[in-house]
Amino acid sequence: MSKETRQFETEVQQLMNLIVNSLYSNEEIFLRELISNASDAIDKLRFEAQTHTELLEGEGELHIRIAPDSETKTLVISDNGIGMTRDEVVENLGTIAKSGTAAFMKAMEESKKGDAIAPELIGQFGVGFYSAFIVADKVTVETRKAGEGEAVRWESDGLGSYTLETCAKKEHGTTITLQLKAEGLEEDFTEEWAIKRVVKQHSDFVAYPVIMNVEKTEPLPDEEIIKDADGKPIGETTKKVRADETLNSMKAIWATPKSEVTDEEYDEFYRHISHDWNSPLDKIHMKFEGTTEYDALLYVPSKAPMDMYYSEKKTGIHLYCKRVFIMDDCTELMPEYLGFIKGVVDASDLNLNVSREILQQNRLVRNIRKNLVKKVLELFSKMEKETYAGFFDEFGPAIKSGIPMDHDNRDKLAKLIRYKTTKSDGAYVSLEEYVAGMKEDQEFIYYITGEDLVSLAGSPHLEALKAKDYEVLLMSDPVDEWVVQSLPEFDGKKLKSAEMGDLDLTEVDDDTKEAFKNFMEYLQKQLDEEIKEVKLSSRLKDSVSCLSGDALGMSAYMEKIMKASGQ
Ligand code: ADP
Ligand code: MG
Repeated sequence: MSKETRQFETEVQQLMNLIVNSLYSNEEIFLRELISNASDAIDKLRFEAQTHTELLEGEGELHIRIAPDSETKTLVISDNGIGMTRDEVVENLGTIAKSGTAAFMKAMEESKKGDAIAPELIGQFGVGFYSAFIVADKVTVETRKAGEGEAVRWESDGLGSYTLETCAKKEHGTTITLQLKAEGLEEDFTEEWAIKRVVKQHSDFVAYPVIMNVEKTEPLPDEEIIKDADGKPIGETTKKVRADETLNSMKAIWATPKSEVTDEEYDEFYRHISHDWNSPLDKIHMKFEGTTEYDALLYVPSKAPMDMYYSEKKTGIHLYCKRVFIMDDCTELMPEYLGFIKGVVDASDLNLNVSREILQQNRLVRNIRKNLVKKVLELFSKMEKETYAGFFDEFGPAIKSGIPMDHDNRDKLAKLIRYKTTKSDGAYVSLEEYVAGMKEDQEFIYYITGEDLVSLAGSPHLEALKAKDYEVLLMSDPVDEWVVQSLPEFDGKKLKSAEMGDLDLTEVDDDTKEAFKNFMEYLQKQLDEEIKEVKLSSRLKDSVSCLSGDALGMSAYMEKIMKASGQ
């Protein structure tokens, strides 16, 4: 096919501009992104080749190569991974097919001021390729899909359009050539030491060798050294040679004994797999040796990702088998509500050809998952009170959502949830603490649900409970509605809504009822269309009236949520 020019989708162009304009102060991340794409491409090839060995096309080692040229100011990053077909190139490097991109753009717009947040976002939303335009005037991608004959060249200056043409390419995989900007860059990315530093810092754990042909100083062999009469060398004793060097350690730290891994390595590995620039809050590194054997290295992030509640990614677990990558986002190994946990599981007893379908039915996988969940919940329960409060601020809704979802662990999860209360002055209270603080005559655990803590705390529904000095849990998360529905009691104490039905605190006596009979009937008639029933109540102390839910019906907040979601 001859050369054709195409326009980027409008959104792609906007996205590129955003990335380039907000990430110029973190220019070096382009290399991490391109290396990570190359590594993904090799992962894919390796996975495909399990069943289609011919795809490897008889080549040697799978690798990523970096080749700088200071004369032409170019930097080439190539891989012998899966490569792309023409259609895939158009789809991956020209359109926004990925969901979450709109969310990314919004988040970027909002965080315009800060470049602190931008690099985190870029990794999380996976828009890495375009970061090449932070450092390059022109980007050329030459790629051939493994197993296919035709290669294609994609080229763009990042300003509206790109070109596509057929080209020749011997090796399958992808070669990306960056024409580096002549001005405005903080670092010269054709310098060997600069490349070495960036690779070491951001890509050290990439599972494939990142190779660069570098200049090295080697000692001259003895017979080549010119010596004086006393045997002392005159002139050079070393020579400069060019040789391939692997720049990354590729250390599979999950399979390394704990004592041999430093804190920095743990943190760095976390950043590598999570694309999160913060350090993790905590981690679990364990070797399980029983009927099944596996290594697991799990991390608790310190901050919830921006896209936590609308991301497609359901889990952050990468599955390996004897250090060979099998898949990421392994949902079979971690329940959805713990999807924020990041890490690696290396199960040596799994078959390398394992598919998602097999995983779902695999008893081994179920056992691993059960054990991982147990360890993770244990870790949460052992956190220092203050650390846990910080953790709960970030991930509380996720933990709460486990209560309706994970029946087996409901009791453990119930101990892990926290609420602010009418008495806690903004601090979190556990259900255990609540029960311990209950009044002698108090039968129920009282709660109230609604949109924000301030109006909840001031709700007229609470007047009678306050008068009795009962504590009330203030629930302001939408997910709390599901929590109370699936958690009827805790420690033998029933949970009771402070706004629904009668509170059974003190019955209104018959004389009072008689005295207000006519007035009640009048009100009922006036409001018949709007409400179910007008009732005399003892729950109010200072307010005249309040709207209240049916004892068995929905809370006012629940009704609102249901309406908002169109039900
Ligand atoms: P992400 O890596 O999160 O999917 P990127 O913007 O980094 O997003 O890359 C977009 C897509 O382009 C990738 O998903 C992949 O399909 C394709 N791609 C990028 N680089 C390569 C490569 N070196 N080899 C094969 N495919 C690639
Ligand atoms: Mg990428």
